[in-house]
Amino acid sequence: MTVLEGLVGQEQAVGRLSAAARTPVHAYLFLGPPGSGKREAARAFAAALLCPNGGDGTCEVCDRVLRGVHPDVVVVERSGPYITVDQAREIVRLAMRSPNEGPRKVLVLTDFHLVKEAAPTLLKVIEEPPASTVFVVLADHVPVELETIASRCVRIDFRAIGREQLVDTLVAEGVDRHSAEEAADAAGGRLDRARLLASDPDLAARRQAWHDVPHRLDGTGAAVAAAAAELAALIASAGVEPLHARHRAELEALEERMSRYGDRVNKKQVDEQHRRELRRLRMDELRFGLATLQQAYRDALVDGSGPAADCLVAVDAITEAAEALERNPNETLLLQALLLKLPSLQ
Ligand SMILES: [Zn+2]
Repeated sequence: MTVLEGLVGQEQAVGRLSAAARTPVHAYLFLGPPGSGKREAARAFAAALLCPNGGDGTCEVCDRVLRGVHPDVVVVERSGPYITVDQAREIVRLAMRSPNEGPRKVLVLTDFHLVKEAAPTLLKVIEEPPASTVFVVLADHVPVELETIASRCVRIDFRAIGREQLVDTLVAEGVDRHSAEEAADAAGGRLDRARLLASDPDLAARRQAWHDVPHRLDGTGAAVAAAAAELAALIASAGVEPLHARHRAELEALEERMSRYGDRVNKKQVDEQHRRELRRLRMDELRFGLATLQQAYRDALVDGSGPAADCLVAVDAITEAAEALERNPNETLLLQALLLKLPSLQ
């Protein structure tokens, strides 16, 4: 199996990339929702471009690209909320440099839906880079600032991964079927999150804790405060250990890269990226919790164990809270305010 064939749930993209790897052009746009595997695909595509055997996945070049230690594959992470003009200049400089080892280098530009005013600085180099440079631009969607750059790239679409495919993938990776199903249910079509949850032994306990909330509420502020504090603590610890383990492995790869090639790696950018992932983990976990809580009221509505009017009020209040989360992501305040509105099911 080639490195590209190993990508999960993206048959169409894999087909197009396999063809592209044989006769690559100057720039590609990988477009698709978070967690659809764009980063992994970018690494695999880079391996296919640099590997003397077209990405066999077994040679030393493939190995270094996939582990993130090959000097001719540079993944550029943003260091703030947006891609800055300074960063864009750095990308131009990197693009103009010759490859270290072979005839080609690959620049992977991440989160480019956040390109904002840095886009004009990059247009020319992405349009017409040196013949040895291939750009892979990753974006969740194409905002107006990205449109011109997008029009200069060959576009490869990625889609959210289906539940069955998530389960099958986890099982093939050695997870037992029951844990794989639980992880897939809580992953919202995202393979990265499904993998993280599958390696998290506390997932079932967390689901139960959220599901039990309506039975713990008794109309008092004390019950609300206790439940909110407990849920906040669950959110803060959920999946953190597996994520830290992955971050440690990434930092080790960086150190190796620096000592092997004397590469200048921007550690601040990597730290920022890790902080963002941690933050996103908490948000994902809160969304998962709210969905579980909402399911508890829906179940009570269906089996008649709660007054219908109360259950409907609760379902609406939880939908509103999930929407408010996008605008004002203070989880503790949001949870307290929500739990105060929710009826008890005792
Ligand atoms: Zn290879």
